[in-house]
Amino acid sequence: PASTTTPRLTVAHRSTGSIPATVGSDLLVPLADGRVTDYANFDHGASAPCLESVRASVEAALPSYASVHRGNGYASRITTQWYERAREEVHAFVGARSDDQVIFTRQTTDALNLLARAVPADATVIVFESEHHAALLPWPAERTVRLAAPSSSTEAVKKVADALREAPEGPRLVVITGASNVTGEIFPIAEIAKVAKAHGARVCLDAAQLAPHRPVDISTLDVDWVALSGHKLYAPYGAGALIGRSDWLDAADPYLYGGGATHAVTEDTVVWATGPARHEGGSPNVIGAIALASACAAISKHRDAIEQHERSLLARLRTGLAQIDGVTTYSIFGEDADRVGTVCFTIAGLTSTLVSAALSAEYGVGVRDGKFCAHPLVGHLLADSPEHGTAVRASLGLGTTREHVDRLVNAVRTLATSGP
Ligand code: PLP
Repeated sequence: PASTTTPRLTVAHRSTGSIPATVGSDLLVPLADGRVTDYANFDHGASAPCLESVRASVEAALPSYASVHRGNGYASRITTQWYERAREEVHAFVGARSDDQVIFTRQTTDALNLLARAVPADATVIVFESEHHAALLPWPAERTVRLAAPSSSTEAVKKVADALREAPEGPRLVVITGASNVTGEIFPIAEIAKVAKAHGARVCLDAAQLAPHRPVDISTLDVDWVALSGHKLYAPYGAGALIGRSDWLDAADPYLYGGGATHAVTEDTVVWATGPARHEGGSPNVIGAIALASACAAISKHRDAIEQHERSLLARLRTGLAQIDGVTTYSIFGEDADRVGTVCFTIAGLTSTLVSAALSAEYGVGVRDGKFCAHPLVGHLLADSPEHGTAVRASLGLGTTREHVDRLVNAVRTLATSGP
């Protein structure tokens, strides 16, 4: 036979300085006055641009991909290897235990909905109202205890402990966000997990906002499941993962009924697969999994540089905004809380829609405005600013530069002083 060597996917690490390069960093945008400027992307919290190395991995896979697992052709066999290798990479990315499963999903929303289907019928779910809707809403309403947003890390831990003390007997699941998508603040994950474990509860971590910016280690944090999205981790859309314990998942109904999820089917019986296959019915998003895994590899490799880059830009942004009269920034735990590179703010007298439109049209700065799929949290944070109701969110990432931060701060100063 011809060569049986498996082609390896190239994972090129083309770096700018010591952080990985993203595609589109040369994107030019038109301004309202006819000028053109480079795009200052402050919307990484929504979706992050693709890494150059991720593009290289996808391009390397495109010429020879084929359906995984069920084909014995050469392309099927190597694609199966890539797909399973991607699973291992994601497993390592979150420091998963040897018996943890990695189930590829569409994104975090899909991963959390999958887990919600697997929660035992008699389980109590405990969740903060400060969650993104993806982590707040999938759980069965009648068995979910919703805790008001905490005002300090200590209070967050205490609220979970109190709720667990009062929870009925039976399985319990505590759902927490790693980093708030509204304020970027990092929740006391390990402390909450410790309290949860002391009460026999399981913990699910929504790492959609945390994983792109800080290490997530299942074993150190002692959480049971982690959910994440590729498109927030500098991969394109369409792939995410649920990583964690297999018992509830193997006991649950398959997420999608169909091929791939079955072990054996006769006229009147179906034996469903266990393991990741059980919940990955249908032809999987192989290219998405390869992209996600490639992003995980690059981010792990550059963790320290990424954190340093983002911390210094965030400090510059927060200091700049703090010096502008009429600008209010919002936080759950207070100004000193550790956070990823996200700032939520309003400008007195201006709606957030007007601010974001002016930032885009006049300065080439892309931010997000509204309630960020976290309506209860934004309602809570803005309770004392009844004239607002919605806010602006600036979230930085790998493509952000000091010039972008200065442009945003200067633009906000001009808007706060003289309006759009
Ligand atoms: N959780 C958090 C904290 C988020 O910020 C988001 C998206 O913004 C999600 C979950 C949902 O992510 P996705 O839309 O990729 O499912």
